Amino acid sequence: MKPFIVIAEDEAAVSELLRYNLEAEGYEAAIAHDGEEAMLLINERVPDLILLDWMLPKVSGIEICRRVRARQTTANLPIIMLTARTEETDRIRGLQTGADDYVSKPFSNNELMARVQAVLRRIRPALVEDIITVGDIMIDRATHSISRAGTDIHLGPTEFRLLEFLAQHPDRVYSREQLLDGVWGSDVYVELRTVDVHIGRLRRALMINGRDNPIRTVRQAGYSLRKN
Ligand code: CA
Repeated sequence: MKPFIVIAEDEAAVSELLRYNLEAEGYEAAIAHDGEEAMLLINERVPDLILLDWMLPKVSGIEICRRVRARQTTANLPIIMLTARTEETDRIRGLQTGADDYVSKPFSNNELMARVQAVLRRIRPALVEDIITVGDIMIDRATHSISRAGTDIHLGPTEFRLLEFLAQHPDRVYSREQLLDGVWGSDVYVELRTVDVHIGRLRRALMINGRDNPIRTVRQAGYSLRKN
């Protein structure tokens, strides 16, 4: 699963270059050319990070920041402001409104990529780290291997993606629909029951050597991976 980044920037030269560089770094990126489009994109699919131009047509960057922070589903969404302004007061205002970081234009690609990586690492470590640990479960994405309390566990590719997805937010309950979208993709038709089948397999594989069940079933709601 690639981290998904929305680039809200009205200067096509800047946004195209950003998209190109982000994709080269292994991110998925979408461009919004004005503030309204940015809000539409964010509502359609909550990104993992927003690169937000301060001076945007229709809805300003700071207003987008406010709206994103005010909504429960996006309240913790990382935002990096892109600003041509050099005035300190504007940067402070951006940070006070809830931006996590800012980059002043013109910026170097390396600097921006480093900031993106740093913000994601701080806020969503599971998105950028090769090794994710949840309780005694260790997921190594580089080698595609899983272990529990030091014992290797063999998982099929779907179970691996399922575990990787659940591990991004331990204790968060995902509905079967959300798991389908996140693991199988929204353009594939898979029956909801399929999710239960793969959860069952994943659970059995993880309960190796009589260890406890790390996947919680929440009636009428879905599944979550226990933090401890
Ligand atoms: Ca602009």
